[in-house]
Amino acid sequence: MIELSHIEKKFGDTVILKDISLTFPEGSVTALVGPSGGGKSTLLRCINLLEQPTAGTVRIGDEAATFAPGKKAAWSSVQKLRSQTGMVFQNFQLFPHRTAIENVMEGLLVVQKWSREKAKARAMELLTKVGMAHKADAWPANLSGGQQQRVAIARALAPSPKILLCDEPTSALDPELSAEVVDVLGTLAKEGTTMVMATHDLRLASQVANLVVFLEAGQVVETGNAEQVFRNPTHERTKRFVSSIN
Ligand code: ATP
Ligand code: MG
Repeated sequence: MIELSHIEKKFGDTVILKDISLTFPEGSVTALVGPSGGGKSTLLRCINLLEQPTAGTVRIGDEAATFAPGKKAAWSSVQKLRSQTGMVFQNFQLFPHRTAIENVMEGLLVVQKWSREKAKARAMELLTKVGMAHKADAWPANLSGGQQQRVAIARALAPSPKILLCDEPTSALDPELSAEVVDVLGTLAKEGTTMVMATHDLRLASQVANLVVFLEAGQVVETGNAEQVFRNPTHERTKRFVSSIN
């Protein structure tokens, strides 16, 4: 279970996230949707603590860190929480001078200190899961965007994080390549991977997510399943947003 309690994030005096409390049960898939600048990426970065919230608590399983103005959370808690998350970015961000399989092995070798043999076996297992085993020795530059993103997903899953965070995982891809990535994320969802994804891709949100959170100006406006939020929104603001993207 992942729990955010009263998360606030300020940059200087500007409040970017306001009092956000959300729970992501184990095995759930949440889509963060809403207008550009609403705070989706910032919220993901506050879950993996690439950004530290200015207030509130982030809890993943038994580990938690509480933030307050002028007070830094314990570094060891931050490190532990971060190690329980995996992140997938819009632009894949594979290491260009490593092959697909070396990209997946990297964190296992460097951070987890696994042996090469064990890391290679785990990486191959994950590349198989995302349908990329046949390209294990390819360089990122020789892979399509959809293939690079599938390798990036395998890399993020390598250390068995408790939660997979995806920031616009399909938005750099054309519809066909994006469908490959939606399929992979759908399979992971069926297998019970807990995920939170920021997305403008309604196909991704409606096919894969069981909870949709509409975020605007750093606040949660509406939450519900995809059907409720996209077909039957209750808030005026959500209605306008949904009609603008349909
Ligand atoms: P998009 O849909 O365009 O990806 P988003 O919902 O992900 O938008 P964020 O990137 O989280 O939105 O940005 C939320 C707000 O926080 C924006 O107003 C942005 O300018 C501001 N912001 C983000 N990062 C910083 C930073 N490091 N310093 C100052 N302001 C920031
Ligand atoms: Mg964003």
